[in-house]
Amino acid sequence: MAIRIDGKVISAQVLDGVASDAAAFLDSYGIKPGLAVVLVGEDPASQVYVRNKIARATESGLNSIEHRLPMDTTQDTLNQLVADLNADPAVHGILVQLPLPAHLDEEQIIAAISPEKDVDGFHPVNVGALSVGKESLVPCTPQGCMIMLEQVLGDLSGKHAVVVGRSNIVGKPMAALLLQANCSVTIVHSRTPNPQALAQQGDILVAAVGRPEMIGADWIKPGATVIDVGINVIERVGPSGGTQRKLVGDVDYAAVEPVAYAITPVPGGVGPMTIACLMKNTLVAARRLQQMSGV
Ligand code: NDP
Repeated sequence: MAIRIDGKVISAQVLDGVASDAAAFLDSYGIKPGLAVVLVGEDPASQVYVRNKIARATESGLNSIEHRLPMDTTQDTLNQLVADLNADPAVHGILVQLPLPAHLDEEQIIAAISPEKDVDGFHPVNVGALSVGKESLVPCTPQGCMIMLEQVLGDLSGKHAVVVGRSNIVGKPMAALLLQANCSVTIVHSRTPNPQALAQQGDILVAAVGRPEMIGADWIKPGATVIDVGINVIERVGPSGGTQRKLVGDVDYAAVEPVAYAITPVPGGVGPMTIACLMKNTLVAARRLQQMSGV
């Protein structure tokens, strides 16, 4: 049986570290590290994510500042809020929950956030710093995947990692982090011919596709470590005949588990790690900002 990489357990360890660092920060500077979370509109999934982020922040001893804006918020209003948060010394991290309603320009908002407070790690300055291996705020999901991989495999040096997906928020930064950890990295995407053949060569496989249970056992090298980033809601016929909604990953867990060395479940794998790394980034940002201010 494969090792089940438990994101709940590992994220709790990360959050314990954040809580003690946050207490030390409060002792040193007399303020809590502050995370501002901005939600525009009423998207149900985003509301759940924001609620969870605020809860984890509060539990970890951070000051969470919530801004809920209506669906018809204008670009100017959102830009002004971000400018105010950039200027607020009590705010160390700014997270604008994505996706934004279609009339708002996401790229413009991401670029408007001060890179020092960009705890999502999506600002071009942080993206560039990551790609050249400089200190940066690293996107939370791939950062969480790296913590899990290093916990189960130790040194990743020399391993062949295959990343399925090349989005700016998961696939590309994931590949950059694996490269930094001295893996040989292959990126597979929707235009890759015969992606299974490449995936089967991976000692590590990271799936970030957004297609329910697309990755079956025929994608996996026996003994590989599999990280499933996907979060997909599907409807299935339940035992009583009615339809049931279920959360599944991009990996067919039941099929892949017997072939893999280790694997993350969905839910309870990458998801909790993403939130824990957001808290970790807020601490990193708070310490750097405090040092920069020379207080
Ligand atoms: P995107 O839709 O932005 O990217 C999906 C990627 O998968 C694209 O690069 C696409 O290729 C590639 N792809 C699509 N179909 C195939 C295929 N048949 N074969 C190979 N590659 C394919 O998704 P995200 O990266 O934002 O998210 C991926 C998944 O991860 C989603 O389920 C999302 O919900 C989840 N997620 C989970 C998080 C967590 O905390 N656990 C955080 C963020 C995301 P191309 O570029 O060519 O179109």
